[in-house]
Order: sequence, then structure tokens, then C-alpha cells
Amino acid sequence: MSKNQNNTCAIAPIEDFDGAAWLTSLQERIRSAVHLGQLLRIEGNGTRGQEHGVTAGATLSLAACQGIVQYEPDDLVITVRAGTPVAEVQRILALQGQMLGFEPPLQAGSTIGGTVALGWSGPRRPFAGALRDHLLGVRMLDGLGRDLRFGGQVVKNVAGFDVARLMAGSLGLLGPLLEVSLRVIPCPAVEKTTVLALDAAAALALMQRLPTGPGLLSGAVHVDGSLYLRSAGSFECVDAFLRRQGGTLLEQHSSEAFWQGFAHQTHRFFFPSAARHGQPMRLWRVSVRPGSPVMDIGAATAIDWAGAVRWVWAPMSAYPALKQWATAHGGHVALWRHGTRQEHETVLQAAMAPVLLDVHRRIKQVFDPHGIFHPGRMFAPC
Ligand SMILES: Cc1cc2nc3c(=O)[nH]c(=O)nc-3n(C[C@H](O)[C@H](O)[C@H](O)COP(=O)(O)OP(=O)(O)OC[C@H]3O[C@@H](n4cnc5c(N)ncnc54)[C@H](O)[C@@H]3O)c2cc1C
Repeated sequence: MSKNQNNTCAIAPIEDFDGAAWLTSLQERIRSAVHLGQLLRIEGNGTRGQEHGVTAGATLSLAACQGIVQYEPDDLVITVRAGTPVAEVQRILALQGQMLGFEPPLQAGSTIGGTVALGWSGPRRPFAGALRDHLLGVRMLDGLGRDLRFGGQVVKNVAGFDVARLMAGSLGLLGPLLEVSLRVIPCPAVEKTTVLALDAAAALALMQRLPTGPGLLSGAVHVDGSLYLRSAGSFECVDAFLRRQGGTLLEQHSSEAFWQGFAHQTHRFFFPSAARHGQPMRLWRVSVRPGSPVMDIGAATAIDWAGAVRWVWAPMSAYPALKQWATAHGGHVALWRHGTRQEHETVLQAAMAPVLLDVHRRIKQVFDPHGIFHPGRMFAPC
């Protein structure tokens, strides 16, 4: 990689990727699926679990579509082909002292297209914004094989309805993403963590007093009786901020290991919890207003996003109580992991209000009028 006079990073072309021929074959594949009434399952690197994956349909893999299309470090924008591994994007950004602000939860091999399609953001989200806030533009194919571009490759891009953001969390339902343009952020000079021994109620009370949004805080998580506060910025400010909070300062490697483990869910909290009273445990994600009180449902809870996300181990039978609690606190609940396919479908279908479901169906109809992409992934085909 080399920089030209405009400080644009010129990326060496990937020799074994013939974009034009590949695009044509992908379009033909979609058109023939429409013609033959086939179903297609869009895939990045296939790293997602099978639990909430739909297995019907032939695989339409984007894994070969790799490479950096354009990277403008001075403009804090990168455009990447969808099949590029996120780890490779992070490596290239790190060379310029930059990073993805939404701290994506990853598994080995996750692609940037799959990550955008999943739309998840890690513990940095309340302080640096969600994945969709960093998504500036996309290039994609729709269910007719049309090559579409939405949004742009610049940060100042505010004309009209922001269709590109619809693709964050679209789960491959609207069509394959070919390229994504993302805003990136500079790596902080230093990032440190202090750990305070507090129960959940005291941790939530402290989280409410701390500033959210851009600033010194970059993570606030409570797990196993400890509150982890991460601060990012200059040496002096971070030191002063963390000293004010008290607690025990973590060594650099322990701090990094904790946040990676929590973001990528390799922390021991996320290991399947033992069955209780013969009922196997499921991992639930409850999104609520950050100031919501401590949950008294389930066997174990971790607090993420400075109070706005509660990870809960509870059996399937706890779903009605979880849903009621989440609704009462302005949020919703998702069955995250370790459920059966049937359980995931039950929760998914009960999760959406009819009016929202109608909006989803209408958007799907516009992008995929023949319903060839992932039928049944989110709602029963019309
Ligand atoms: C701890 C952990 C657990 C996870 N568990 C699950 C889980 O249970 N279920 C789950 O779905 N994910 C799960 N994920 C997310 C997943 O493993 C990957 O992080 C993410 O899916 C990206 O991987 P991938 O590129 O291989 O995408 P894939 O796994 O191939 O695809 C993921 C989704 O994105 C869509 N997609 C992929 N590429 C594109 C594209 N170019 N255009 C449009 N749509 C696309 C697919 O249709 C699919 O819906 C988990 C992640 C972590 C960190």
C-alpha cells in the first residue's frame, strides 16, 4: 500500500478477482433464480451459527469479492468489497492509526459484508455510535439483479432518505452487498480500564452518572460483580478520569483481553450456563432504556452498553416475563444463542409489532419482488 500526493491510499489490485466478470455471473445467477423460482441464501464466510440461519435455498457466496476499493485516511472513509475479512480491514486501518468505531463482534473469518448485514455493534456503541451510524454507502444487487448504489463515499452526505443505513441489519434479506463505505475513527492515544467491585444496582447507578456520547468513556460493562470502565483519549485525561472513578487499573494486556472477550463473546460469561431444574439455559439479549433497574429474571445477567443492553441466561420458559420486562422499560428482547431453531422462530415472529412487520414486508417487496433471498429468515413469505 502506498500514499499518493492527495494522501489517498492506493491498494494494489487483487489479481485473482475479476470484478466485472464476477458481477455479471452474480447477476445471471439472480436472474436465473427468478426465472426458475429458486431461493438464494446470501453468505459472507458462513461463520454464523445455524440456529437462526435459514438453510433453504442455494448459497450465493460473496467470499470471493475481496479487496479495498478506496481508502482516504485524511477523510476518515474506507470503501471495501463485501467479502473482505474484517480482520484485514482492521489491519489496514491500524497501519494509519485508525479503526472501526463500532467495535464489531466477530468470529474468525467474519466478512465486512456479513458484519454490516448483521448490524451488531460492540461495547463502544453508546460512546462512538452504532454500525449504521458509520455506514456511509453501499453498492448492492437487488432481487432483479440490478446494480444499485446508495449513500456515498464521503462523511458529509445528507441528501434524501438514507437507504444505505437500511442495509445495517438487513440479514441478506434485501440482496447481496457488493461494497460498503464506512466512516472510520482515529485510534485513541491510550485506552485504559479500571475495575470496581460493585453489585449490579450500584454499577447501574454509577453508569447513569457517567457521560455517554463522544468523550472520555469508551466502555461500561458490569459482569460477575465487577464494573469495568474503559476510558480512551490522551494519557493525561484518561489517567485523571480513571483516578476519579477509583477501582483497580488493569494492565494493558488484561484490559485488551477483557474488552475483546466481551465484544466477541469469548468471555466466560457467554459460555453456556448449566441447566436449572432440568431446563436448559438460553442466552437472551434485552435492549432497554439505559436507566432501567436491575433485572430479577434469569440465572445470570451482564450489563453492556452502559445499561442499555442486558445479557441474560434464562430458560425458554422465561420468555414471556423477559418480554414483559423489556416492554415495560421501553425495549425488546431477542433470543441470542443456544435456542432450538423452533424457539428462535417463535421469538422472532413474536418480536415485531404488526405495523413494523408491514413496513419490513413492504421494503422487502421493493428490493426483492420475487422473494428469492432468505425467505422465512425474518417473517413468513407473503
Ligand atoms: C459470539 C458470536 C456469536 C454469533 N452468533 C451468531 C448466530 O447465532 N447467528 C448469526 O446469524 N450470526 C451470529 N454471529 C455473527 C457471525 O458469526 C459473524 O460475526 C457475521 O455473521 C459475519 O460473518 P460472515 O461474514 O461469515 O457472514 P455469514 O455468517 O455468512 O452471514 C451472516 C448474515 O449476513 C448475511 N450476509 C453475509 N454477507 C452478506 C453480503 N455481502 N450481503 C448481504 N448479506 C450478507 C447473510 O445472509 C447472513 O444473514 C455471531 C457472532 C459472534 C461474535
